[in-house]
Amino acid sequence: MNPPSPAAPALIKPPRRSTPLQWSNWYLTILKLAVALLLALLISLVWLLRQNEIEEQRSTLIADVLWLEQSLRFHLEGNAEQLQQIALDLAQDKAKTPLFQIRGRHLLKNNQELQQIRWLDAAARPLDSVPSQTAPRNEYTALSEAAVTQAIETASKLGKPVYTETYRTPDSVQFEVYVPVFEGSKFHGTLIAAYSLNALLKEQVPWWFAEKYQLRVLDANGSPLASKSKVDAGATSVSYQVAFDPPGFGMQLQVTAYRIAGSVAQTLILTLIVLLAAAVLWSLWAVRGLIKRRLSAEQALRAEHAFRKAMEDSLTIGMRARDLAGRVTYANPAFCQMVGFSAEELVGAVPPMPYWAPEEMEQTQALHNAVMEGNAPREGFEIRFMRKGGSRFDALVYEAPLIDADGRHTGWMASIVDVTARKRAEELARQQQEKLQLTSRLVTMGEMASTLAHELNQPLAAITSYNTGCLNKLESGAFTPDELSGALTKLGVQAQRAGRIIRRVHDFVRKSEPKRAACDLAEIIDDSIGFIESAAKNRNIRIVREIQGMRPELMADQVMLEQVLLNLMRNAIEAMSDAPPERRRLIVKLSQIENQIENQMEIRVIDRGPGIPPEVQEKLFTPFFSTKPEGMGMGLNICRSIIEFHQGRLWVEDNPQGGTIFVITLPIGLP
Ligand code: ADP
Repeated sequence: MNPPSPAAPALIKPPRRSTPLQWSNWYLTILKLAVALLLALLISLVWLLRQNEIEEQRSTLIADVLWLEQSLRFHLEGNAEQLQQIALDLAQDKAKTPLFQIRGRHLLKNNQELQQIRWLDAAARPLDSVPSQTAPRNEYTALSEAAVTQAIETASKLGKPVYTETYRTPDSVQFEVYVPVFEGSKFHGTLIAAYSLNALLKEQVPWWFAEKYQLRVLDANGSPLASKSKVDAGATSVSYQVAFDPPGFGMQLQVTAYRIAGSVAQTLILTLIVLLAAAVLWSLWAVRGLIKRRLSAEQALRAEHAFRKAMEDSLTIGMRARDLAGRVTYANPAFCQMVGFSAEELVGAVPPMPYWAPEEMEQTQALHNAVMEGNAPREGFEIRFMRKGGSRFDALVYEAPLIDADGRHTGWMASIVDVTARKRAEELARQQQEKLQLTSRLVTMGEMASTLAHELNQPLAAITSYNTGCLNKLESGAFTPDELSGALTKLGVQAQRAGRIIRRVHDFVRKSEPKRAACDLAEIIDDSIGFIESAAKNRNIRIVREIQGMRPELMADQVMLEQVLLNLMRNAIEAMSDAPPERRRLIVKLSQIENQIENQMEIRVIDRGPGIPPEVQEKLFTPFFSTKPEGMGMGLNICRSIIEFHQGRLWVEDNPQGGTIFVITLPIGLP
């Protein structure tokens, strides 16, 4: 079983150079940096992949554009060649018109982008056209006459197809190709084919191309002339432009890639990465808060522990913890000092403990067992322990259950006080008190010497007179035996009286332990008055007893109570020694007080002396307080001890008529 927390001073860690909070801040900062770095790396990786992809897309796009441009060029050139062939055939054939119609239609049928083929003679007059209606020359063209003439001229001069600028028709944007017809070397006319740009794109751009890219034909100013797709690819997409020649005139083919499908997934991944990083950062922040709280709790705990340790170390009371098996799990420095063993020697010790006194082994073991069973006296118990050196000491032990943080009973904690010094002091005080009591008795004795002489005088005088009487009778011979025996009996009574007086004095002076016996309080009062009466008479003081025939019995030490009464009466007599004659009266009053708890007898010693001022009353019962030059000041102190020994009380009150009242209460058994 592990020792309970108080027994674990080893848990206290040495002070650190940097606080745990600083350390955790560092640790968390590094963690945060690592997460940020990881996030940056991931984002760069995604960015690089994307760049790579864009680059790849761009190369593919360029290749595709070049391919398209080439394909369109081949197609236009192929058409031009076919027109040249028709032109050649027209020059050689006789049946020109049917030939033009057949070949022209064939060409139109195979090339949907071709809108019309016209045939002009050398003077640029329309000869025929396909579709085959004879139309005014410029019906199908929006080109200016000058442009047409220019094109015819250039074509005839170069002897090869010539393309025109684009022009707009209600349906489309068109351009034309002019192919000269030569008969031998003589210019014989022109074949003109009109292309619809939109139709060209529609027919010649394959579907897969249109799916990947947006294709637009731009004029020299960059304005769009035709487009394959209406869907906008977006400004940020990869785009490439290439000259559209033929037909030329600064026309451009502009191809823009649609966003690649993968980019959505990439965006998703990127978003997830950012979210994940945010979550990690948030959890780091949360963990930081948690660590902070935990560390401050730890700090508080450490402070608390240090405080408690300092408190324990400063204790002069020994503390010792034992587990449920009785093994010592903790001993504080005060206990170690008390028994002379080190904490290392004590912790882990099992009964019989090294500090158990061999001569009290059985009793100690019994007490130990009682503690383990939870039957230790709540008010503590006294026990004798042995120091390492073999000396013994008395200890007062209080045991309390040891409860851990989970509320489980894990053992017993004892607080141990070395009471050797206190006991010694108590013993010394008791002895001193006894001595003082004896001294006080002797003092009282001295004062009573005259009283005794007076008291003994009476019986002795009586004995002497009875003795003389008897002798006279014997000598005269005139006596009856009855007379003699009566006188001798009286003599005996007086001798017994004298003996009692002497015994009482002897009892009074003899040092003896208090002996409680059944006695009569009225008799005690009478005896005490008897002792002091003559001294009172000497000072002209009358003692009045108010007992009203009561004879209450109580268990008491008669001599001690007499001593108390004698003391109080002596003080009262002394207090009234200077009083006027009418006040020289000492009353001793006995009465019974009944209450619910017990029956009490009350004795009041009432004088009419000068009284006692309040500041003196406060000190009255303290030892050695006296206002008299030769007074010992022990009387009232001892009186109170005696009354308290009898479970009674003694206090002083002011006499309303002037003077002092000393009040004694004593419990008597219920009738
Ligand atoms: P002691 O008589 O030796 O002085 P006590 O303890 O009997 O010692 O009394 C202490 C003091 O109390 C006396 O010195 C006296 O001043 C005061 N005292 C006691 N009884 C009376 C009393 N009845 N009236 C006035 N003073 C008293």
